[in-house]
Amino acid sequence: MSEFSRRDILSTAVAAGAVITATAAQSAESPPEPSRAPGVGGADPVPGDVVREAQNPDLLNPPATDSGTLPNLRFSFADAHVRQSSGGWTRQVTARELGVSKSIAGVNMRLNAGGIRELHWHKQAEWSYMLYGTARITAIDPEGRNFVDDVGVGDLWYFPGGVPHSIQGLGPDGCEFLLVFDDGDFDEDSTFLLSDWFKHVPSEVLGKNFGVPATLFGHTPDPRELYIFKAPIPGPLGPDKLMGAEPAPQSFSHHMLAQEPIRTKSGTVRITDSSIFPASKNIAAALVEVEPGGMRELHWHPNTDEWQYYISGQARMGVFAANGQARTFDFLGGDVGYVPFAMGHYIENTGSTALRFLEVFKSSYYADLSLNQWLALTPRDLLKVHLNLDQQFADALRKTKAPIVPA
Ligand code: MN
Ligand code: MN
Repeated sequence: MSEFSRRDILSTAVAAGAVITATAAQSAESPPEPSRAPGVGGADPVPGDVVREAQNPDLLNPPATDSGTLPNLRFSFADAHVRQSSGGWTRQVTARELGVSKSIAGVNMRLNAGGIRELHWHKQAEWSYMLYGTARITAIDPEGRNFVDDVGVGDLWYFPGGVPHSIQGLGPDGCEFLLVFDDGDFDEDSTFLLSDWFKHVPSEVLGKNFGVPATLFGHTPDPRELYIFKAPIPGPLGPDKLMGAEPAPQSFSHHMLAQEPIRTKSGTVRITDSSIFPASKNIAAALVEVEPGGMRELHWHPNTDEWQYYISGQARMGVFAANGQARTFDFLGGDVGYVPFAMGHYIENTGSTALRFLEVFKSSYYADLSLNQWLALTPRDLLKVHLNLDQQFADALRKTKAPIVPA
């Protein structure tokens, strides 16, 4: 048998195997091939994770405009370890999972009805977006003013670094939320827990501190039993609301979804930063909804990196990194995306349902620059000698910002 014919038989067998694998994995569709056009790329005779490849069409078959090397700008919560306990579960995407994400870490947490995220604090500021259900949050500020509130879908909370707090799932089915921390190295598993501290102070010292006999102490549950634990659903918010001399003057919660959005023909944007949610001193955010066929326009941010959480829908993001470098990433609900400081980008709804995602920034304020608006506000002659485009293009430029297009 000649070298050629043996190779042909081998590749035919492998290709047949590939079809079977793909059939099992994605119902009779042949595996996606890394070939964006005839004569470019080729077949994949030894297919790998074809389901994964099908979810990453713009990595497998990048637009011809993609070029060069960029760091990975996507990580899915679906690829993160889930810590489970009696009250719910949690998982995190930090700089350990998404290396480029030095400024922000994210946590996705579920608290069953009554389930409590133990009283605790941490060095980092905590910002949250409620994804499902209802929760009760508590905190005090350094002046001894207390805060207790019930939050629902589309509500935010913000606890500055060091401020102690708790979260509890309410009826009928608890809650699920996204947490964002202003430090990529944050670790949800190493926060300052109430039970952990009690476990590591001598009973005599606890007795002296609280003015009670030392014998009262020594029964604190192991911190591994608390952290996220089961408890009865609390009653309605009543006397708990005002326990201190006065309530915290600045609310630690905010109804983001209740804000009147910026609206275009193809979607909405709600922006929340410290100008309307004063407690949120170090996190600014935008909740973006893009209709099928719509796109978050070409833009960039002049202040810092962008951390994204895709709530639902399907998207692709193209990122321009200067120096001829560009790459495109695909997203589904539950994915985290990242855009390093100042890089130009767009986000297209590639699905048949509304795309909803959060843009989050480690900043007191939200800011973006629109490519379209920039060009509209640039002298026409100057523009003409750059891009070699005709009058029709110049006439279509918009002096007012339209974050979602078609506008
Ligand atoms: Mn916390
Ligand atoms: Mn952006």
